[in-house]
Amino acid sequence: MKASVAVDSALGTKVLTKNKHLIRWVEKMAELCRPDAIHWVDGSQEEYDFLCERLVRAGTFIKLNQKLWPGCYYARSSPSDVARVEDRTFICSLSKDGAGPTNNWEDPFVMRRRLKQLFKGCMQGRTMYVLPFSMGPVGSPMSGIGVQLTDSPYVVVNMRIMARIGAPVFAEIDKDEVRVVPCMHTVGMPLKPGQHDPAWPCNETKYIVHFPETREIWSYGSGYGGNALLSKKCFALRIASNIARDEGWMAEHMLILGVEDPQGEKTYVAAAFPSACGKTNFAMLIPPKAMKGWKVWTVGDDIAWIRPDKNGNLRAINPEAGFFGVAPGTSKKTNPMAMMTLAKNSIFTNVALTPEGGVWWEGMTDTPPAECEDWRGERWTPEIAKQTGRTAAHPNGRFTAPARQCPTMDPDWESPNGVPIEAIVFGGRRSTTLPLVYQAFNWSSGVYIGATMGSETTAAQAGAVGKVRRDPMAMLPFCGYHMGDYFRHWLKMQRGLDRTPRIFHVNWFRKDENGKFMWPGFSDNMRVLRWIVERVQGRTHGRETAIGWVPRYDDIDWSGLEFPQETFDNLMEFDREAWKQEIIGHEGLFIDLHDHLPPEMIYERELLIYRL
Ligand code: PEP
Ligand code: MN
Repeated sequence: MKASVAVDSALGTKVLTKNKHLIRWVEKMAELCRPDAIHWVDGSQEEYDFLCERLVRAGTFIKLNQKLWPGCYYARSSPSDVARVEDRTFICSLSKDGAGPTNNWEDPFVMRRRLKQLFKGCMQGRTMYVLPFSMGPVGSPMSGIGVQLTDSPYVVVNMRIMARIGAPVFAEIDKDEVRVVPCMHTVGMPLKPGQHDPAWPCNETKYIVHFPETREIWSYGSGYGGNALLSKKCFALRIASNIARDEGWMAEHMLILGVEDPQGEKTYVAAAFPSACGKTNFAMLIPPKAMKGWKVWTVGDDIAWIRPDKNGNLRAINPEAGFFGVAPGTSKKTNPMAMMTLAKNSIFTNVALTPEGGVWWEGMTDTPPAECEDWRGERWTPEIAKQTGRTAAHPNGRFTAPARQCPTMDPDWESPNGVPIEAIVFGGRRSTTLPLVYQAFNWSSGVYIGATMGSETTAAQAGAVGKVRRDPMAMLPFCGYHMGDYFRHWLKMQRGLDRTPRIFHVNWFRKDENGKFMWPGFSDNMRVLRWIVERVQGRTHGRETAIGWVPRYDDIDWSGLEFPQETFDNLMEFDREAWKQEIIGHEGLFIDLHDHLPPEMIYERELLIYRL
């Protein structure tokens, strides 16, 4: 390295790669960002502990009560930096058309100039961490590698949970021929000597920028989650969706789970739901006791990389190694496996801090703590909540927890060749119209169902909560190119397959005329999952309707649950008028995409109208 940039003397590791391109790029970026020091991340436990200590000293982290929460830390972000910022997220393809109307676009040359200005000297007073990560098991033919340069130690420790990082990844990079996705990240707050550093440095100006042709990511001004852990949404979805289109595979916003039946046979399912619709809960589902012998195994909760193998079957890996889950609503009742997973070695961000040095969030226990500090650090009591409506945790408060601590992890979750996918499930948060479950007639009608999926918005997105927005395949914020071309890619994928996964749509969120959820959800979703896998195996019935195949009351396993047929009929009710409105809603999206929309989507809509 050039003598002008020291290694971080407290950490003291040396350059950890022999790859000349990588070293030259790091030097060039250091010249641009002007960090005080550079640290090459080896990913060791010692390094992790040291960085956590550094974060405690900086006031970013509070070490939790180690008897109650061993290995756990607590962080509060700046109140202005609590969620992904979709309006500040850009796909800077060479042509505006390449990004499509659902993405923000800026001319890549203009954007590069702007970023250069912003990044100039942005790391002054800080250490630049060189953080290599592998999405998927290190060395797997299905994995991909990135290197993130960041001035945020919070990002480094979170990434150590969320991805495979450090020395083994540098070794992989040194093996030549591997393509590395360069990821630049700064919190955007350079420090002059003696200047006070806030506990959560960030900048009001934010840019989350992707260059799809050169496979690059530049993120400025945020330290939070999907804006800053560039492995996750930026690489594994937005950049990877571009790579996947070019190479003939799929990068999807999907959980992966395996359903084991009482005979021990396993069927793997991938499911796409928008953010904060219960993907993590579904991935860790515990079947009702009365459904003896049924078991659900977890492979992933957010992202699936799916490819056809040489036998024409689709196989999927979870490219991640941890869960970055929404904390509020997570409890021993709603998701006992998540609670066990996050019990140790985890990081909590924007939840409440209890006087014993523990964490709490809405929905974690039936009785709230008598008193705690809320996610902003202010005193909170149930009384104050009643008076002001303030929640103790931010609705998008998160836990970062290692996947290997989850008791239901599938024995094959790190298999380098992935697991075979036999069903694909789409779902959204819909209080009306959409039935509990239905099965697509075939692949292209399934693609239509995914393409026209809608969901009511949640706190995971900055902006209004509770509006239905079209969210094709739950990829609206994550598809790194034109949505119309993305549908085309989906249709094309089937041609290379010998065995086509069956496609389903579910809706756990339908409400009755009193505004109450009709379906109990959580564990009881197993009843729907059982029908799905038995349909895949050709072992159960379906009734044909205008929108697809549906179960009759008797096709569902009701053991251990009193569920009146009348409620089931309401849940499954097909309202012709509501569906007319629904199709008009599809139309809105299709008009936006029209010049790239594959004709199959128009045929499918025509067929649907005809069947109605
Ligand atoms: C995030 O918001 O930072 C995130 C990881 O994504 P999601 O909204 O899908 O949970
Ligand atoms: Mn997600």
